[in-house]
Amino acid sequence: MKVKVGINGYGTIGKRVATAVNQQDDMEIIGITKTRPTYEARDAVRQGYPVYVPAESMDAFKDAGIPVAGTIDDMIKAADIIVDCTPGKLAEEYKAKYAAAGKKAIWQGGEDHSLTGISFNATANYSESWGAQFSRVVSCNTTGLLRTLFNIDKNFKIKNAYVTLIRRSADPNDSKNGPINAIEPSVKLPTHHGPDVQSIMPWLSINTMAVKVPTTLMHVHTIVAELGSEVTTEQVKEVIKACPRVRLVKSKEGIKSTAQIMDLARELGRTRGDMFEIVVWEDGIKMVGNVLYYYQAVNQESDVIPENVDCIRSMCKLEKDAAASIAKTNKAMGI
Ligand code: NAD
Repeated sequence: MKVKVGINGYGTIGKRVATAVNQQDDMEIIGITKTRPTYEARDAVRQGYPVYVPAESMDAFKDAGIPVAGTIDDMIKAADIIVDCTPGKLAEEYKAKYAAAGKKAIWQGGEDHSLTGISFNATANYSESWGAQFSRVVSCNTTGLLRTLFNIDKNFKIKNAYVTLIRRSADPNDSKNGPINAIEPSVKLPTHHGPDVQSIMPWLSINTMAVKVPTTLMHVHTIVAELGSEVTTEQVKEVIKACPRVRLVKSKEGIKSTAQIMDLARELGRTRGDMFEIVVWEDGIKMVGNVLYYYQAVNQESDVIPENVDCIRSMCKLEKDAAASIAKTNKAMGI
């Protein structure tokens, strides 16, 4: 029997999780929710997803000619687990509903660790969500940092990590946010990204700063890490190469920027042109003494998607072994 998954909040993350879940053989989408009869609601119907809506929105969907399967409460009842991909500030209200219905739920990185007390990253702590009722897949940036830092720390012991996050200002389908012609530093320092990594690697000394720039494609991280010993650049490259869901690219092969990375994702025939892996410039990895320098890029719309699939597997006890779940998810998603 497949695990029945409901998606609450069918936006950038929700629609991608729906596709990824339906690509697996041990879970299926039983419904998605929409609050308004938008083009995304119409497209969900085209894709064959039952659409659930707030009771007060039923008439609006009827007027728009978009068929509705029931209310959001009906979807919660029908699901074994809900992947909550709603925007911020709704978590407490929905948490009460999921708890009352006795359902499992996963939130995204826009929520705080304190909501669930467990945060998830498949590489770093798959087993901590084993059988849990509630968990949280950490944000796109935190996922990116954990994908590489966890194995670098495991192999070479990081004494201190200093990270600058160069953040995209808005997602590609967003015409409201900015900046569109400025660079905006986060002045609340250090930024929340370090503590978010520590929700999964509490022992790691990590310091973060961030600036927003006018791009929609990806975030870029510049990482400087003092290691416990003087290892070679080649040794570090081997470790990064072996990290799950990390792709090494070379500037000298033409991948000079995020533009070519996203072009590569489209050439690979990925759904929606997504790059699920964290992309590290191989020719930008360098050891000087015991200090490691590297750059990585994060496709904010998609890196957390396979993590949600693995989190469902851990919470619903479908696969005990993290590496086996990662491999299964990757194979089904073409990673
Ligand atoms: P989004 O705005 O694209 O989608 C949110 C969806 O929730 C929309 O379809 C909206 O209509 C729906 N919604 C609004 N109110 C609702 C309600 N009361 N009940 C049900 N649905 C409702 O947002 P997103 O970018 O997909 O972000 C979702 C979560 O994922 C947030 O926690 C965010 O921080 C996190 N996240 C976002 C990104 C990213 O770059 N977009 C990356 C990683 C994690």
